[in-house]
Amino acid sequence: MKLRIVYDNEAKEGLESDWGFSSLIEAEKRILFDTGASSEILSRNMLRLGIRKEDIEIIALSHEHWDHIGGLDAVLHQNVAVYVPGSFSKGTKRRIEEKAAAVIEVSGPADIVPGVHTTGELGMGIKEQSLVLETKESEGVVALTGCAHPGLENILNAAKFFGELYGAIGGFHGFDKLKRLEELKMIAPCHCTVRKAEIMRMYPGKAVRCGAGEIIEV
Ligand SMILES: [Zn+2]
Ligand SMILES: [Zn+2]
Repeated sequence: MKLRIVYDNEAKEGLESDWGFSSLIEAEKRILFDTGASSEILSRNMLRLGIRKEDIEIIALSHEHWDHIGGLDAVLHQNVAVYVPGSFSKGTKRRIEEKAAAVIEVSGPADIVPGVHTTGELGMGIKEQSLVLETKESEGVVALTGCAHPGLENILNAAKFFGELYGAIGGFHGFDKLKRLEELKMIAPCHCTVRKAEIMRMYPGKAVRCGAGEIIEV
């Protein structure tokens, strides 16, 4: 399936960069994973990428930080179902319910559409869900993270529930057990990944550039 980066700390020419993350998964349904920090920037990047909010059938939110849910107003509409960690605040859930078709609260691992799953809510402090994408050649699964607050290693372990690990895409935050990435065949460090440059250097064959406007084939 195709993954389009819509919002990131870096951007290709013609798109805006900003602190935050959002990507569009083109699977059986179009799933927007996170919404960036600003609805204005999200809207402008979507316009440039030819994505209309009505085309988004599902939204999945990784965690309740402003740089992941701040753009919600640009993408909520009456026919979209929104998957959120069950621990989201009542206020945010209510805000989404008012403008969306449904709010689906996630606890454990679950299927979203064929080939796209959620790890369920992970983490002791900041609760976060990651998505797990099956590669089209069935080589394994790719973890798609927001900030990876529960620890990328824990997210990778959780993703294994759905198949052999193939890759990881998203914000890895302060993740520093870089050797652990050896087992992956594809790595796209995005957003808040502190050791991004080092990961790109360490794994030249399999590290993939992230940034708004990039397309990553999974
Ligand atoms: Zn973040
Ligand atoms: Zn965060």
